[in-house]
Amino acid sequence: MKNKILICFMSLMLILSANVQIYAQENTNINESEINTNRNIDLNKPMVALTFDDGPSEQYTPAILDVLEKNNSAATFFILGTEIENNEDILVRMVEGGNQIGNHSYNHKNLTTLSNKDLNEEMSLTDKKINEATKYYTPSIMRPPFGFVNNEFNKKIYKPIVLWSLDTKDWENRDTEIIVNKILDNVKDGDIILMHDIYDSTAKAVEIVVPELINRGYQLVTVSELYEYKNTTTLFNGKVYNKGLTK
Ligand SMILES: [Zn+2]
Repeated sequence: MKNKILICFMSLMLILSANVQIYAQENTNINESEINTNRNIDLNKPMVALTFDDGPSEQYTPAILDVLEKNNSAATFFILGTEIENNEDILVRMVEGGNQIGNHSYNHKNLTTLSNKDLNEEMSLTDKKINEATKYYTPSIMRPPFGFVNNEFNKKIYKPIVLWSLDTKDWENRDTEIIVNKILDNVKDGDIILMHDIYDSTAKAVEIVVPELINRGYQLVTVSELYEYKNTTTLFNGKVYNKGLTK
């Protein structure tokens, strides 16, 4: 009897773990390394990664891409599945400009409370839409909505989980000057800076902050580049990265 229960339990675990891994298997073609950029990165100079959540926004993301292009820089965009339709050209522009796209889920729910099935759907559908929009690109990193993580959840995520080390709180203050000062007063080598490309105040802050960071000697790189160039380590699936490169 005991053995039978054990076998039942083990089969159940197998079924459950297979279910959790569904989207991971669909997700093996990582393409960031295929991107050609004209940017020359100096490993000895400081670097930061600007990151933008909740877009793309038809209204503000193109202006942010303009600033990045003009300054020969790149950023990382954690995209929502719901925002992709009719904004496919913005995603193509991101990729062509050497920017990184991350998965920010489909509906911006608290992912830690979802069933395995719903979680898989949030992740895989967003990957699929990004892949279709760009014709080839699949995100290799994710950021959960609200930065909500826990041990149980992290184990189910077959991508590195990237949070941030410098929060502009731009969604709350909606004030260009505060955003600019938060960045320029606190920035240090290796920071991952959190912003949202869905506000006018943020787009205006980017216009000021990008040239000024460059003026101060910073190179603006993607999250993957930041770790690749500075840390020379691989990012691991299900592991949380929330400190940038701060020791
Ligand atoms: Zn978000």
